[in-house]
Amino acid sequence: MRDEECVVSLSSYYFPEFNSNRKLKKIGVLTSGGDSPGMNAAFRAVVRTANEFDYSIVAFMQGYQGLLDNNFKDIKSEDVSGIIQRGGTVLKTARCEEFRKPEGRVKAAEVLKQHNIDALIVIGGDGTFMGASLLGKEHDISVIGIPGTIDNDLAGTDETIGYDTALNTAMDAIDKIRDTADAHERLFLVEVMGRDAGFIALETGIASGAELILLPESLTHLKEVKASLKEVFKEQRRSSLVVVAEGDETGGALKLSEKLREDFGKYEMRVCILGHIQRGGTPTARDRVLATRLGAAAVKAINEGHSQVMVGVVNGSMKLTPLRMAFGTKKDINPELIELTKQVK
Ligand code: ATP
Repeated sequence: MRDEECVVSLSSYYFPEFNSNRKLKKIGVLTSGGDSPGMNAAFRAVVRTANEFDYSIVAFMQGYQGLLDNNFKDIKSEDVSGIIQRGGTVLKTARCEEFRKPEGRVKAAEVLKQHNIDALIVIGGDGTFMGASLLGKEHDISVIGIPGTIDNDLAGTDETIGYDTALNTAMDAIDKIRDTADAHERLFLVEVMGRDAGFIALETGIASGAELILLPESLTHLKEVKASLKEVFKEQRRSSLVVVAEGDETGGALKLSEKLREDFGKYEMRVCILGHIQRGGTPTARDRVLATRLGAAAVKAINEGHSQVMVGVVNGSMKLTPLRMAFGTKKDINPELIELTKQVK
């Protein structure tokens, strides 16, 4: 089976005694890119599953930066006690410019060799996977990706770790904004995260009953935005709420407010940028379960000899997708949800 070419399923799930390939001994793990709630749950599952397989775990702190600096910890099962409910990442994370260069990755490969690491598990988003894919290809290192990003922008998994928590955090915040918008009969423009993908905006917008949702995936015509808002005001609703993804071509909520001021100046208009509040917080049950499944599956995938793949859950089943497909394929927004925003607003 060539992982580079196809999406595959995992077999003999979670039963080490069924495994024929027990020669792997040491697994490296790191979290990289933006933190997302549930990364700790994934790390915990990696460690606990590795323990079942008698594999040892070396964790690198602060993402690829820690790998280059050989900033590591040998991890025992007890080290991951009491972290499943914590947001952020106990392994810390960082953006690392040096790793983007081939010389940086040479250094990383040397560190992995020095530790006799057989496979590296990276928990992060598309950038993390791009780096991992290059490291794997250039230095023949076995790498497995676990999708940990609030953006949900990776193909090969229905949801990424942290997405559900971010949705709920944003929805809670918007519910509170709605209360004050109602009280003052205001127009609120709420900006949520999503530079290239509108998943958070779309689902929080639907969940919070937004009058209008603006996404990077669909072209925003200012004329249409104005016409929709005028309709809303005609209906004399108590408030109007527009959810804007930060990557929408209007330039985000602040820029949009400037463009709307001329036509809607007589209404009280407020801009609220939710920002980093969306990244933090205790992971939802759904994220913890997803993270636990994916963490365990990553170790299982190594045990079965897979490499250069991302573990993901598609329609309820565990799937392995080549890393370069996970970050190189544009994940489609569900058209049914887009349609819904036009029908129920
Ligand atoms: P998030 O989705 O939360 O932003 P991410 O994994 O996409 O997470 P990035 O900052 O894009 O976050 O990437 C994390 C790290 O991966 C970078 O700091 C860099 O070290 C490495 N990386 C990103 N892109 C590349 C690339 N094209 N080549 C090599 N390494 C890369």
